[in-house]
Amino acid sequence: MRQVDHFVVGDAGGGSGRKHQVWNPSTGEVQAEVALGDAALLDRAVAAARDVQPGWAMTNPQKRARVMFRFKELIEANMQDLAEMLSSEHGKVVDDAKGDVQRGLEVIEYACGIPQVLKGEYTIGAGPGIDVYSMRQPLGIGAGITPFNFPAMIPMWMFGMAIAAGNAFILKPSERDPSVPVRLAELFLEAGAPEGLLQVVHGDKEMVDAILDHPDIAGVSFVGSSDIAHYVYRRGVENGKRVQAMGGAKNHGIVMPDADLDQVVNDLAGAAFGSAGERCMALPVVVPVGEDTADRLREKLVPAIEGLRVGVSNDPDAHYGPVVTPEHKARIEQWIDTAEREGAEVVVDGRGFSLQGHENGFFVGPTLLDRVTPKMESYQEEIFGPVLQIVRAHDFEEALRLPSEHQYGNGVAIFTRNGHAAREFAARVNVGMVGINVPIPVPVSYHSFGGWKRSAFGDTNQYGTEGLKFWTKVKTVTQRWPDGGGDGSNAFVIPTMG
Ligand code: NAD
Repeated sequence: MRQVDHFVVGDAGGGSGRKHQVWNPSTGEVQAEVALGDAALLDRAVAAARDVQPGWAMTNPQKRARVMFRFKELIEANMQDLAEMLSSEHGKVVDDAKGDVQRGLEVIEYACGIPQVLKGEYTIGAGPGIDVYSMRQPLGIGAGITPFNFPAMIPMWMFGMAIAAGNAFILKPSERDPSVPVRLAELFLEAGAPEGLLQVVHGDKEMVDAILDHPDIAGVSFVGSSDIAHYVYRRGVENGKRVQAMGGAKNHGIVMPDADLDQVVNDLAGAAFGSAGERCMALPVVVPVGEDTADRLREKLVPAIEGLRVGVSNDPDAHYGPVVTPEHKARIEQWIDTAEREGAEVVVDGRGFSLQGHENGFFVGPTLLDRVTPKMESYQEEIFGPVLQIVRAHDFEEALRLPSEHQYGNGVAIFTRNGHAAREFAARVNVGMVGINVPIPVPVSYHSFGGWKRSAFGDTNQYGTEGLKFWTKVKTVTQRWPDGGGDGSNAFVIPTMG
């Protein structure tokens, strides 16, 4: 059995002694075991990070950027291998796995510009003979706790920014697909990073708690489900850390009567079913405005959904592959049962789907539910599977209210040819990321990623200048160089600039 070890300085052994099975979701077989770490293992990683971080922070930003440039080249050279490894543990198809790597790589590209974005602010002559300047300094040691669904992109969102800014970083990836994060850390070392700058510790709640309680970890970035995000946020903040914690999602796609429905169906098919719906920016809810729009949309959606090809993750013709674990497959099917019990109409039923030759794989067929209403639990909660729900709205105002009042507020999209409606929607909707005729509005790396409401706890987004802000603290220096003649200053009265 292949073993996935921690990637730490020194002995990678130790830990809790417990192991977690890593599936191949396409075959239903266990393909590896990952060691689960504990507080003692984390302590060793933190000690190594403490040794290396001050020197890294003192390394000039241009040299730090050179490591990022080399890392970028190594990722590009290893793209195919990384994508295949990712696909075999996660279940997403290989081309989609390449996208996972690529979207993380784009944050590394942004981090290559760290000398430019780290330049501080300077005011000459803020008062008589007084200059003021401010700089951003690293927090010290940062940690990232990441979900299974983007095992390359999300770690790179975090460590790319944190390390370029001068921090050491400890990554605790999902125990369900742990191999790619380890491979990224190996490549980072190969790119010239000092040993100990990026370490990977595996684990579950025991390791997460150890991270949240460790006095030498200054900042924690989390991405995962909302209840755990909230828990991580509370416990980390209580321990005096800076924490950003991104949670779950239930993104809506509003379809106005004037939308180009062929385009919408094409966009929805990919956004709802791509990666088997296991994306926090998937579009699992479609809201046609008006009965006529709903009927026309449904008529076009059904054949498109029935035509989707579900396959093993390395089938180049498959639209999507299996879901991540047998438990997750069972949960998704239970949600479809619940929706049916609640009164939703099961238009296309993906339950009981079996792929010939791969009967043990964790496949769920594409599912379309109509006449879903806001009161249904299956609408309120995240399903995270290949299930698209139609919620019919009477008018624009009702369509705007649905995502705005939902507990999650990650992403939303509107499909229309009417610029005024789109502009009004973008301005008023209570959601963090908006697409206008764009089904998956994940912002580019030089903007930033973050949802609202229960989709994110904390107040800074991932990557871009927001990421830089999260991983650094501001120091402001007010200086004067008196000439020795006395300038009559008097600190008995709070100093003002005259
Ligand atoms: P998860 O919450 O189960 O796991 C996330 C991380 O938390 C993992 O590293 C896991 O080991 C750890 N963890 C699990 N149980 C824990 C516990 N009881 N205490 C402490 N830590 C624990 O999430 P997942 O299933 O891996 O990922 C899917 C979820 O992530 C979905 O809800 C999805 O919407 C969300 N997600 C959100 C974003 C975003 O940016 N908002 C992005 C991707 C995924």
